[in-house]
Amino acid sequence: MNRLNRHETALLQSIHKLKEKSGAHSPSVHELIHKKVSIDIQIDACFLSNPYATDLFLSYFQHDLLSDLSRLRRYLENYPSQNRFIAEMLSGYLQMPANNIFVGNGSSELIQAALHYFTRDKMIVILPTFSSYYEFVQDGVEVIFYRLDKQKDFELDPEVLIDLAKREKPNTVVLINPNNPNGGYLTYEQVGRLLHALSRIQGLENIILDESFIHFSYEDPSLSFQSASSMFNDFRARLIIIKSMSKDFGVAGIRAGYAIMDQRKIDLLLKTGYLWNISGLAQYFFELFTEDAFLKAYKQVRVRYIQETQAFFKILGTIDGIKTYPSLANFALIELLGGLKADEFFARMLLDFGVYTRNCDDKIGLDGEFIRVASRKKHENDAVIRAIQTFLRNRQS
Ligand SMILES: *Cc1c(COP(=O)(O)O)cnc(C)c1O
Repeated sequence: MNRLNRHETALLQSIHKLKEKSGAHSPSVHELIHKKVSIDIQIDACFLSNPYATDLFLSYFQHDLLSDLSRLRRYLENYPSQNRFIAEMLSGYLQMPANNIFVGNGSSELIQAALHYFTRDKMIVILPTFSSYYEFVQDGVEVIFYRLDKQKDFELDPEVLIDLAKREKPNTVVLINPNNPNGGYLTYEQVGRLLHALSRIQGLENIILDESFIHFSYEDPSLSFQSASSMFNDFRARLIIIKSMSKDFGVAGIRAGYAIMDQRKIDLLLKTGYLWNISGLAQYFFELFTEDAFLKAYKQVRVRYIQETQAFFKILGTIDGIKTYPSLANFALIELLGGLKADEFFARMLLDFGVYTRNCDDKIGLDGEFIRVASRKKHENDAVIRAIQTFLRNRQS
């Protein structure tokens, strides 16, 4: 690596320290600002959200709340509605009875709830994965990993998973579709067949299907997405669909998510708490789902973002020296080739170009040097491509 000067070394060290405190996650921008880490992040290609959706939310927020402080006051001064009221509000948008909807303070809270209250003995998790799925398990639960093979582009083979589940007889299976961190996608039909086969396995009580990135996927030219929620009734005894609103709606700070599950499971959770578990601002956000105008505008920013994202991945795929894995999420997993280290790539992208990427060296189940790059606005994606090309060219010469 080009030798780092003292200032650069100190910066990387402070980022490294913050990263260690954040566990398996990247430090948030708040921490970087709070700790006065003086790096100039021009493009945050680490955080996985649709920036156009954030713009849309902000325009509603400004119109509805900032220019009407008495209304804002109502959300901040009062208790928000209880879980059941918010579920009723989402029922129309989700075309799902309210008694199958459970809202969470971010979907992380729902992952935690499912793992703590429903998961027993043994669980199968696909690797690589979103780390909470093995970090939040309770002591005594054995976690079995199905490692995706990079030689097969990290594609999940439903038959392998079914065989593993038959052999291991887990209580819970976790699927993420599209998967984080690689973006691999199972079609609606594949998911249906998997759910069908898994449902026949004795003792398997929970199939957790995390669809937090499903809005970035599509199967046909209309770019509409296919959520397994339309199959919920067929698998209701076991299926738990988990959905974060952080990424597709670009509002991670609001902490909003929901799960679709059997009413008996919801009743059990409600008995343990979760009364006012979402904030007033999350309530405001969920209220937007009853507004046709908002949903229509969201549809537009969703489609625009997908088109730009896929165009971005296509160009990344043509760059020599890196391998971009197929993704139907809003991020791409990139393998660095020819001896290039993830540490070096991360550092130079940040220090020389202000591009903040996700160094995946802490992700278990990734064998090699990997970086994850999120899609942002088009001009930012263009800048990321220029930065990668310039960096690789300078390195060769
Ligand atoms: C980010 C993420 C979550 C958590 O999102 P919240 O902000 O807690 O709603 C859940 N699942 C996956 C796969 C994620 O990537």
